[in-house]
Amino acid sequence: MSRQLPRLGGVAADKTTNSCRLCLRSRELRESHIIPEYLYKPGYDEKHRLVKLVRGVPKALQAQKGLRQHLLCDDCEGFINDEYEKPALEFFNEKIPDTVAGNTCLIEGINYEPVRLMLLSVLWRASVATCRPWQLVDLGPTHDERLRRMILNRDAGTEDSYQTWGYLLLHPEERFPLRGTICPLEPVRRDARRIHRLIFGGCVWCFCVASHPMQGIQSETLLPTGSIRLGVFTMNEFKPFHNAMMSMVRAILQAEG
Ligand SMILES: [Zn+2]
Repeated sequence: MSRQLPRLGGVAADKTTNSCRLCLRSRELRESHIIPEYLYKPGYDEKHRLVKLVRGVPKALQAQKGLRQHLLCDDCEGFINDEYEKPALEFFNEKIPDTVAGNTCLIEGINYEPVRLMLLSVLWRASVATCRPWQLVDLGPTHDERLRRMILNRDAGTEDSYQTWGYLLLHPEERFPLRGTICPLEPVRRDARRIHRLIFGGCVWCFCVASHPMQGIQSETLLPTGSIRLGVFTMNEFKPFHNAMMSMVRAILQAEG
């Protein structure tokens, strides 16, 4: 007689054995990072300067660190890591500048397919994850499935599908990108389209989740030719980040009583 897993409200009580969200096979699941692990490591210097900047905030950001969920089997973890995350490391480490003087930043020579699929895989993982704070990102079953297939089939798509653009998020005085800052933001609607936004790797990444691309931002979009023109904000100028940070600090203070 096969052993049945105890079930609570229709959900397997043992969350480590369930369907992998990428390959859909029933496998033992790993505790998957939503954001690649290497992006959780800001330089010592950045941490040190942030501590000086706003007391309490680094503690709030630190609390986001261990956020993982049982989502993927071992094979799919390895697949995303080898195919997308490792090749995208060069983009985050070498293409994203250490300091930024102007109002925009043109980056060229990007290895489009892995970088784009790494970004889309983060969007997808955030959408299928249910733990806090990723519940802010919910693309719905149609887009979850479309992205799942793109990731599985190494299909980076054109720049018009899940149009992707971004803003460097900088320290207000020293203007270095806040590489260790990770959080989702509330989605917004623009021109009847839903824009999902996630902060990681020193940028606010924006994804247009609609069947038609946004007009007027083509020059900022990540292009198959391997370029992107990133906008630039300091953390004080970018109000959605400021609000998200404050609500995070409030939530932590409440949890601490
Ligand atoms: Zn799998």
